[in-house]
Amino acid sequence: MSDRLFRSSLDSLVDKIALVTGAGSGIGRSVALALAREGCRLVLAGRRPGPLERVADEVRAHDRDALPVVCDVGSPTDVDGLRTSARQAGVVQILVNSAGIAPAASFLEMEDALLEEVLRVNFKGTYYCCKRFLEPMIAAGWGRIINIASTTAKAAYPHTAAYTASKHAVLGLTRVMALETARKGVTVNAICPGYTDTELTRDNARRMASRIGGSAAAALDRFAGTSPQGRLIAADEVADLAVLLASPAGAAVTGQGIHVDGGAFMG
Ligand code: NAD
Repeated sequence: MSDRLFRSSLDSLVDKIALVTGAGSGIGRSVALALAREGCRLVLAGRRPGPLERVADEVRAHDRDALPVVCDVGSPTDVDGLRTSARQAGVVQILVNSAGIAPAASFLEMEDALLEEVLRVNFKGTYYCCKRFLEPMIAAGWGRIINIASTTAKAAYPHTAAYTASKHAVLGLTRVMALETARKGVTVNAICPGYTDTELTRDNARRMASRIGGSAAAALDRFAGTSPQGRLIAADEVADLAVLLASPAGAAVTGQGIHVDGGAFMG
């Protein structure tokens, strides 16, 4: 596609309403700002009011509307409230599910409660949002759902049983929803980032350092070394793919789990 055609494809994102969960930090924040730069109006959902307000101010600095809504995506009641609040903005036609947690534990040491919480936030949170925002997209004849999964949606690493199970589930949900919406103007995709330079990764590096010794910086270097490119992914690189998937240029891409991982996973 020529640059001119690609730009005109992005132009049609202007004034679309995009809802991003986990928007207060990391990948969610980068996606929200990237969509704002393309002209979207934003509904920003997350647990913590402070970071959401700061991202809302950053969106408004691009002359775009921002509606921050405090919401635990793992609570169906909260997501009902999010739907009610989002209606003030209009019809959400782009949904990006980025809220997530990634506590690490070996399978034998893992408490049942850890599995339940990771599935509640990462999988059920994605499900509740998809469930509540899909129908208006179908009614409008145009919609984009982008689930931020992980390389662990297709691969496995030790000490990540709950997280890996939750991301496999997110990809399975993505694929089924893509089939059921394929003729309704809606696409449903997952982005599968590798180790990305966010607070979540820095937290995991600190935990790894305290578990096996060494510094958090050394742990981050180990994470970076798992990628053929030898580096962490920037949150903005994940956001750039989300913008492409959200644009009309992404119309034929559905049901995919697309890796942004420097070549760490092939297949
Ligand atoms: P992050 O911690 O910066 O962002 C996650 C956001 O989700 C935070 O703002 C947090 O407050 C919010 N959140 C957590 N639980 C929530 C809940 N119950 N309800 C609403 N919001 C909640 O980390 P990130 O790296 O930007 O992670 C974003 C997504 O990307 C996650 O789904 C994560 O699994 C995925 N991911 C991250 C990496 C990585 O290396 N950082 C790699 C692959 C996938």
